[in-house]
Amino acid sequence: QMINETMYARGAESSIIREIFSYGLERKAQIGAENVFDFSLGNPSVPAPAAVAESIKKALELPSDQLHGYTPAPGLPQCRAAVAESLNRRFGTSYEGKDVFMTVGAAASLTCTLNAVTNPGDEVIVIAPYFPEYRVWIEKAGCTCVEALADEDTFQLSVDNVLKAISDKTAAVIIDSPNNPTGAVYTCDTLTRLANVLREANAQRDPENPIMLISDEPYREIMFGGQPIQYAAKFYDDTLTCYSFSKSLSLPGERIGYVAANPRCEDAEYIVPMCGQISRGTGHNCPASLIQLAVAECLDETSDLGVYETNMELIYAELKKLGFTVVKPSGTFYIFPKALEEDANAFCKKAMKYDLALVPGDSFGCPGYFRMAYCIDTEKVRRSFAALEKFVAEEYGK
Ligand code: PLP
Repeated sequence: QMINETMYARGAESSIIREIFSYGLERKAQIGAENVFDFSLGNPSVPAPAAVAESIKKALELPSDQLHGYTPAPGLPQCRAAVAESLNRRFGTSYEGKDVFMTVGAAASLTCTLNAVTNPGDEVIVIAPYFPEYRVWIEKAGCTCVEALADEDTFQLSVDNVLKAISDKTAAVIIDSPNNPTGAVYTCDTLTRLANVLREANAQRDPENPIMLISDEPYREIMFGGQPIQYAAKFYDDTLTCYSFSKSLSLPGERIGYVAANPRCEDAEYIVPMCGQISRGTGHNCPASLIQLAVAECLDETSDLGVYETNMELIYAELKKLGFTVVKPSGTFYIFPKALEEDANAFCKKAMKYDLALVPGDSFGCPGYFRMAYCIDTEKVRRSFAALEKFVAEEYGK
């Protein structure tokens, strides 16, 4: 066979998510998009703030070479400096522009950092349930994905389970708070205890080879109840922060994010140049210049994220009313209830009959649960409840 067999096999795996997505598209064509309750994808529903369009318009006035030319591999210097300055102002950190590497979304931030701090054969710990792409990226880097289950009652990271998952081969731990798919936000206490466990593990190892913490933070600003953001790199020096503007500024199609390498981390000076080499190797180098220019001016902006909290409160109350076991999210636009039967795939397939697109938890490393992405109009959330109630009554007698 001429094609890459590993990649072919991955594409050929039957994917229930794809099936649900395709069925949703088909139904939208048949009965109109407004009548399909699509909770499947994390595509932000609130518009990007006006400041983004204004910055883009301003950038369009620049001479062509400044607007459309190749940017340096790690990104535009003014954009990197602005990111560093914004992080320092908000979190009391001490980044400089040289510590920031602009990327093609968080996806590229994760693949760059993973490849920068692992060697083939290493292990990378993820907290289950986890964003399914982590496994793809970890395995593509030649590493093994090791799952550490979160606490089932709260979906907080279980420090005990992380401790059990650590081995001599552990190169990194990926955390994602606020969390996709659970909506959990790790508390100050959780992050303190995680950092302590990692430092204790490091004390048993070659001091030049600490476990790296990769903190994936695309939902950092989508926090409910006015809680302060706990910035992971403040808890543990060996932290690489991966960020995306996809969710906070509703720009997923623009593909823009960054890696911020804590200047206090081991081999700090190598991380950004390594990311440059890795993105060169994958061909995902130099994010688009126009969007770098734009986000550099919008670092303190967000979309109107309050809609997601409104949606969460409505959905949480409805699910509780219907008798679901569910943890109340503290951030993001996801909720991760227990399905009403053991097989979440069967549950989600049945939901399709009621024009509800729900995603089973299996690919998140957590069978028996399902995810709802409620980045949709509040009015539609309200309308979906009749379908949800019919589904639960007819299929489960509730
Ligand atoms: N990490 C998590 C946890 C996500 O949910 C997503 C996207 O949904 C990403 C990373 C990738 O984000 P991006 O669109 O910036 O590549």
